[in-house]
Amino acid sequence: RKSTVIITGASSGVGLYAAKALAQRGWHVVMACRNLEKAKNAAESVGIPQGSYTVMHIDLGSLDSVRKFVNDFRASGKSLDALVCNAAIYMPLLKEPQRSPEGYELTMTTNHLGHFLLCNLMLEDLKNSPATDKRVVILGTVTHNPDELGGKIPPRPDLGNLDGFADGFKAPISMIDGKKFEPVKAYKDSKVCNVLTMRELHRRYQDTTGITFTSLYPGCVADTPLFRNHYPLFQKLFPLFQKYITGGYVSQDLAGERVAAVVIDPEYKQSGVYWSWGNRQKKDGKPFVQKVSPQARDDAKAERMWDLSEKLIEA
Ligand code: NDP
Repeated sequence: RKSTVIITGASSGVGLYAAKALAQRGWHVVMACRNLEKAKNAAESVGIPQGSYTVMHIDLGSLDSVRKFVNDFRASGKSLDALVCNAAIYMPLLKEPQRSPEGYELTMTTNHLGHFLLCNLMLEDLKNSPATDKRVVILGTVTHNPDELGGKIPPRPDLGNLDGFADGFKAPISMIDGKKFEPVKAYKDSKVCNVLTMRELHRRYQDTTGITFTSLYPGCVADTPLFRNHYPLFQKLFPLFQKYITGGYVSQDLAGERVAAVVIDPEYKQSGVYWSWGNRQKKDGKPFVQKVSPQARDDAKAERMWDLSEKLIEA
């Protein structure tokens, strides 16, 4: 039996290269993407062999679409051995919030709420798989953590007391803390929620399910299309800056390998942790378990985030 992994947002960047690396290592990859045509072309362009992947539709910015994806996956009859929550949007230049069909701010919906719902639904599928080693991997980022050099640039993430979630997260509310719309902060807040989700999944379900829940920071993958909504000059200079000044630059191939390793390799079978290779990439740099930010390791916040997210996906 071939093992199956679902990767969200596998049509570009880290997700695409993770799909390539996992297919090379003999896994069947379900590429869960919003643009099927683009995903197929992307898979071909990096040489993922036909037959080792399936493209399925998901729009993480719509909770109904997430539910439909889960039904479609179940109808395919595949069993699920690993889930990689990778898709994200970063819209630094937005002046006004965009909204999901439910009316929630779109960056937080895509990056966090959509994945939160997906994880909750797919726990069932993971439990039903006969595999002994099952994993959920959620992509994190250094910018979630103001204690790290890469996370010091303002605006900093701040979930506050999650009043924006508590008050229903619909217009005129656009931020989790209920404050003024700030698209860069929305991205960072959503990535804090990703880490909190991973830790809370671990706390609630690790011992009863045996599933390994982890996050990782793959390094600064400065030339993925994540930055496509930034100023063109930024897109040109950022990879050079990361390559030659900060030393944080990681190629898409290497980032994909790192994700695949966290999905498969025995040394990453440690639940509730966040893997990193550091901010400065050294040759043969070793992975280590990194302390997450003060907000992301706040247990009370994790619980409140969980309860409020649950209400939002049910509303
Ligand atoms: P990309 O923009 O290259 O890829 C993002 C992927 O998410 C694309 O496949 C995109 O689809 C997909 N996506 C976006 N919105 C949706 C949606 N509504 N429904 C389904 N899929 C969607 O970004 P990266 O590869 O750089 O980022 C991937 C992950 O890695 C993110 O979680 C990011 O936070 C994390 N990360 C990235 C770093 C970096 O330096 N690049 C550093 C640390 C973490 P489409 O192709 O259709 O646009």
